[in-house]
Amino acid sequence: MVVARQFHGPIDLHAHSSVSDGTETPAELVHAAAVAGLGTIALTDHDSTAGWAGASAAARAEHLTFIPGMEFSTRVDYASVHLLAYLFDPADSSLLAEMTRVRAARLARAEKMVARIGVDYALSWDDVLAQTTPNATVGRPHIADALVARGHALNRSAAFADILHWKAGYFQPHYAPEPLRAIKLVRAAGGVPVIAHPATRGIGDVVAESSLKTMVEAGLFGLELDHRENQPEPTARLRELAAKFGLFVTGSSDYHGAGKPNRLGENSTAPEVLERIIEQGRGSAPVYG
Ligand code: AMP
Ligand code: FE
Ligand code: FE
Ligand code: ZN
Repeated sequence: MVVARQFHGPIDLHAHSSVSDGTETPAELVHAAAVAGLGTIALTDHDSTAGWAGASAAARAEHLTFIPGMEFSTRVDYASVHLLAYLFDPADSSLLAEMTRVRAARLARAEKMVARIGVDYALSWDDVLAQTTPNATVGRPHIADALVARGHALNRSAAFADILHWKAGYFQPHYAPEPLRAIKLVRAAGGVPVIAHPATRGIGDVVAESSLKTMVEAGLFGLELDHRENQPEPTARLRELAAKFGLFVTGSSDYHGAGKPNRLGENSTAPEVLERIIEQGRGSAPVYG
């Protein structure tokens, strides 16, 4: 029997720790969620589950509900598409193989970008490593932090607007699976897949009606429509498509600590939607702290 649970306080289903490109450890992130008055927090580091243990322990101590998750990198041509995945089995061999491949590709790609930037700016790979915790999923934010430390940019956002922008000529893509394959991998691992910030600039055709229909048939659960980077017009269009296809709508902050202006709880998810996620998630369990 499924026991209906009350969730006390707002529900934020998208946040990053220093296991990827957030600036706080998983325990610090959970503490910050408690201070912000949240009742539920999901940890969704890029392509990694290494923060789950630390966040679980902190959630018990802080009396918060913790939802284990991940933001899985996927790609269609040059468009980067992020897939949130909740409550999957972190030991599923097919999913794990793909996560490992993506993390390795991210590392090689970051080294390549730094080599290119290093031609024009004083910047070395060691500078980037100094900004990265061991085994973290490396991304442009770590390069941004190294550029800031070297005095080439004022903060992460400035680095992204300038040297790390694809127009600057240093940008390199990295391997990532197609969204459809990622959705299937997440479901096969018992997880619940949601497309992250699907109405941001540049995603375009990926969430056109026909491809969305294919993703729904493959097991897509929902769309993260309440997110500060979603643009009004595509968001309205996707809200209609979500209703048409029976997709659930989530909302979240995409908090990165000091690395982004996004604040915990600035967008949240309805308790009824979280209940459906928990019902469908079969690979791991929430922590009710
Ligand atoms: P990457 O996946 O390595 O290409 O880097 C993209 C990541 O950088 C995203 O997951 C964002 O969290 C982060 N990011 C993108 N734009 C900004 C920005 N303006 N300021 C800080 N972080 C950003
Ligand atoms: Fe990020
Ligand atoms: Fe994202
Ligand atoms: Zn994110």
